[in-house]
Amino acid sequence: MNRALLLPLWSCTLAWFLPATALTAPNREAGRPPNVIVIYTDDQGYGDVGAFGGKAARMPNLDRMAREGRKFTDFHVAQAVCSASRAALLTGCYPNRIGISGALGPKSTHGLGANELTLAQLFKQKGYATGMAGKWHLGHLPEFLPTRRGFDEFYGIPYSGDMWPYHPEAKPGSYPPLPLLENEHTLKPGLEPADQEQLTVQYAERAVRFINRHKDEPFFFYLAPNMPHVPLFVSDRFKGKSETGLFGDVLMEIDWAVGEILQALASHKLDQDTLLIFSSDNGPWLSYGNHAGSAGGLREGKGTAFEGGHRVPCLMRWPGRIPAGSVCDEPLMTIDLLPSLARLIGAELPKHPIDGLDVWPLLAGQPGARNPHDAYFFYYNKNDLEAVRAGDWKLHFPHKARTMEGQPQGRDGLPGKYKPLPVGRELYNLKDDRAEARNLAADQPEILARLEALAEKARADLGDDLTGRPPTRNRKPGGSQ
Ligand code: MG
Repeated sequence: MNRALLLPLWSCTLAWFLPATALTAPNREAGRPPNVIVIYTDDQGYGDVGAFGGKAARMPNLDRMAREGRKFTDFHVAQAVCSASRAALLTGCYPNRIGISGALGPKSTHGLGANELTLAQLFKQKGYATGMAGKWHLGHLPEFLPTRRGFDEFYGIPYSGDMWPYHPEAKPGSYPPLPLLENEHTLKPGLEPADQEQLTVQYAERAVRFINRHKDEPFFFYLAPNMPHVPLFVSDRFKGKSETGLFGDVLMEIDWAVGEILQALASHKLDQDTLLIFSSDNGPWLSYGNHAGSAGGLREGKGTAFEGGHRVPCLMRWPGRIPAGSVCDEPLMTIDLLPSLARLIGAELPKHPIDGLDVWPLLAGQPGARNPHDAYFFYYNKNDLEAVRAGDWKLHFPHKARTMEGQPQGRDGLPGKYKPLPVGRELYNLKDDRAEARNLAADQPEILARLEALAEKARADLGDDLTGRPPTRNRKPGGSQ
């Protein structure tokens, strides 16, 4: 059997027998529990951060995070679309496990279930102050809002910024006004384009004010800017500043927001006490042409099971705990953050099944640390199991994807039209072939069989609509009958 397939299992077994202290356990005795800030941008592709090769704009603060922290080159979101990806980040579960798929909208009557444990609720167990600014997108009805899911405070929009009456393709009346919320109160019932220009700045200001107010106690803040998701907006300060167009300007403003947070931490001497995480909810929305980002050489983008949809830039910084200037090439995914952070602060995981595993040794840069998952990752689209990965190998199952290849490109906020892309049984070695260009299915029957067997395990548990398999342990979302 291929060694790459065996390593994750080996490391899982080793981790089981090692005492916790041997795994570079975080030092909780040293003082206050660590603060945690998660910045989760929207549709920012793998190639849209300078440290990952992005050229659209200068991003000195993200460069600084890479220089002073750790860069994760093989980091994945659970599904390549907004709501599903956020549900997974906040709960440590595959989104189909908890009944969230696609992108919820103003007509959705469901949301993140009240029985799920969110990151915010995890931190509440330990008495943290918790706050959020940005796009929620896990149910817009009052009973699903962030303040009902563990956040002390919330400022932002309930779903995507393009779900509004100004959408260039919206039929009249198809979208209600897009509200701006503070906690559960409507600050403004209908945002205008000029309002959207200020959102990234306002979110950053909220984050900084939260840090200022809670500097003397442990805190968790979730900053989820709705940029660079279309429609693109930027404040006057960054208009025309990138010299590459509006998308580059927007990236500069996101970088500025990161800088505001770094500065706030430094001003309160909280650098050594704060884990700062930066990532994105999915890859670029390629149909938007010059208003979409770049997957940085990965294949395809948002809404597909190719790496361009699921693999996103990720940086983590915690001076003294995470080695500065280091790079992690091991696979890692958003669902592993909740159990890793639970271990970090000594919080309890929920009793119901979750899918993530503690990967703290990888975050901390422990030499030889490996991803502990047996099958690393299941690429679901809603409840279609479109691909599976173990070690360096990724197997696609026959399904229909979408591509902009050969299509007229979108421009200046108007999308082009995807064409269907039939995908067959395709096997790729991601170590040598990140672009998923050389199908080795015919040459590697043993690996193919191993990946098939792993997929079968997932189908028996999470189900698979592509092969007509019902789930056996999935839970319903909030608001479902
Ligand atoms: Mg998104």
